[in-house]
Amino acid sequence: MFSIKFNTTEDLPEPSPDLITQVIGQDEAVKVVLSAVKNKRHALLLGDPGVGKSMMVKAFGQLLEHSGEFRPYSIIARPNMKNSEKPLVDMIEGHLIEETSEIERPKMMKQPPSIFTLLFGIIASSLILSYILNNLSDPSSKFAVIAAISVIGSLLVFLILFLNIFGATKASMPNSISPADIKPVILYECKKRPLVRASAYNTTKLLGDIKHCPLGGKPPIGTPPHKRVILGAIHEAHKGILYVDEIKTMPVDVQDYILTALQDKQLAVSGRNPNSSGASVETNPIPCDFTLIMSGNMDDVSNLRAPLLDRIDYKVVLRNKMENNQENRDKLLQFIVQEIKNNNLRPMTYDACCEIVKLAQLLSGSKNKLTLRLRQVSNIIKMANDIAVGKELSESIAELSEQAVIIETSVAQTTEKKSNKRIMNVVEKFKPSKKAEPKDETHEMKVVKKAVPKKETAIIELKHINEIIDSGIYSMSKQVGIDYLKNFKRYKNIVSNDVPKVGVIHGLAVLGSDGLGDVTKIITKIVKSKNPRTNLLNISGDLAKHSITLASALSKKLVSDKTLNITKTKEDLDLAEHEIYIQFSQSYSKIDGDSATAAACLSIISSLLNIPLKQDFCITGSLDLNGDILAIGGVNEKINAAKEYGFKRVIIPKSNLEDVIDTESIRVIAVEKLEEIIPLVFELN
Ligand code: ADP
Repeated sequence: MFSIKFNTTEDLPEPSPDLITQVIGQDEAVKVVLSAVKNKRHALLLGDPGVGKSMMVKAFGQLLEHSGEFRPYSIIARPNMKNSEKPLVDMIEGHLIEETSEIERPKMMKQPPSIFTLLFGIIASSLILSYILNNLSDPSSKFAVIAAISVIGSLLVFLILFLNIFGATKASMPNSISPADIKPVILYECKKRPLVRASAYNTTKLLGDIKHCPLGGKPPIGTPPHKRVILGAIHEAHKGILYVDEIKTMPVDVQDYILTALQDKQLAVSGRNPNSSGASVETNPIPCDFTLIMSGNMDDVSNLRAPLLDRIDYKVVLRNKMENNQENRDKLLQFIVQEIKNNNLRPMTYDACCEIVKLAQLLSGSKNKLTLRLRQVSNIIKMANDIAVGKELSESIAELSEQAVIIETSVAQTTEKKSNKRIMNVVEKFKPSKKAEPKDETHEMKVVKKAVPKKETAIIELKHINEIIDSGIYSMSKQVGIDYLKNFKRYKNIVSNDVPKVGVIHGLAVLGSDGLGDVTKIITKIVKSKNPRTNLLNISGDLAKHSITLASALSKKLVSDKTLNITKTKEDLDLAEHEIYIQFSQSYSKIDGDSATAAACLSIISSLLNIPLKQDFCITGSLDLNGDILAIGGVNEKINAAKEYGFKRVIIPKSNLEDVIDTESIRVIAVEKLEEIIPLVFELN
């Protein structure tokens, strides 16, 4: 199975701490995106959930941290003295924020003297003047004093009026502004090249916002706007990577903002909620020069607007399967070791590791492939670990509770009482079936832990992995399938290996997207009628129409080619002259897809030509007008279902044969053409 022999994963070397070397099976994607990141190109990662998109980006972030020189920077917000609704946000590069944390208090004009001050001045100076004049006897001195005072007075009046008229704008700045209100605030300090992750739907997180100051809430009403600025991920990612996942949920207006940010390399923060007090606030454009990496599933691309999609240089599709060869099985083993180390799990035995490879094979849907939807595999490993550890824990607690000595103590020891109670609760919770000791009202129980805690020895074994797989707990569809088969299988009227019957055939289906397989009985009845119509029972219209058209054409071909060695008239074969009833018996979920076309078609042909079909087989396969049997999905689940119901044979498309994992206890027949099936399924005389 693997190129190395080992007993448990503890014998294997530790995984490398470099995240990039931990990404398995996506070598091409890693190479392309790495080059994109190095050259500051934007990239879009597409692929199934859990194939490593986020992990790759995290790994690039780690690489980026150690790459090239990076000048740290801080982003600060200051009040705008000219327009308080437009706070000023600056990026300060290269030096510490402490140096700039105190900004100079803006120079404000003093309040100009008012008109009242002027009147008071005129009255006061007139009184002083009349006093001086009364005391002076020389008329020339009187004149000189009057002249001097008039010149000084007019100058003062002129100055006061000037200040009152032209100084009004500057004077509007409140003289009572507190130093705390004009102190700049640090919005963000970036010490290393950033990798910022944001979900596409979280507009505030992505683009930033201005906080609302509610009455009596936080921040308190009157908080200056510059203290309410929240930067967006696009700003925090300046000089680094912005990783946006879940692109399916990205609103169109957010896409436009991101587009603007990509083009201008700067974007202002403004209040996003029109009902908030932040709505009227907008900062100056703030630098945001980042490399954008977005990710999502293949179908999500349709949500992206063309101008944004055009701006993305690299569109990379991640694989969901890899070849099942020695090299990749070793990689899967490396993955197991990584998961154990990264999640602090218990070691795993060799057999359990082999089972994980088989599971990866099953989840890929093919014998020759291994799944790369590794989050699912990781979850299974974690759950198996929980079972292994859980069993050990319950065993050791049972042991602990047996060794516990119960001593009576006085109620007066109140401090001890509380902690003792806690120990009692833990022990009681895990005691297998013993009833709790009755409590005396005046006495408390004290548990003394005598046993030394047992060293963790749990190992993840094959049985733990199988427990998870058998329960189907890792997949909703699997659980629904298991539950369905457990509760409803016995009610299903499916008799395997019965005597041949006209128009009755057993098809195969998969319950849910990745669920279990199931057998579906298809019954067709055809009667001659002047009033031709088709009656569909538990079957989607398209599938039935498709099958009927095919059956009509192919039955004529089979008769004319003498494949069936029967004679029928043209009218006998003309389905337009018949009333047709097709039923997918006891199938309560809508039958979809075309994997039942071969079965439905054979059932119609059997009914039309009145030739019995054998009942010891199930069949799955899509059929085309040439009579070619085409590949289907979920072949392993379908074969398992045929086995479960006890059928001896299963017919599958030849192109699916290399996907088949297990052929034990059933004969798997792979076919390419309808003609090959005829002698296998019809009871011909
Ligand atoms: P995605 O973003 O594609 O949904 P993640 O990167 O979040 O998937 O993968 C989830 C987890 O699954 C990872 O943390 C890792 O443990 C495991 N994983 C997924 N893909 C890989 C991979 N290619 N190589 C190694 N581990 C992987």
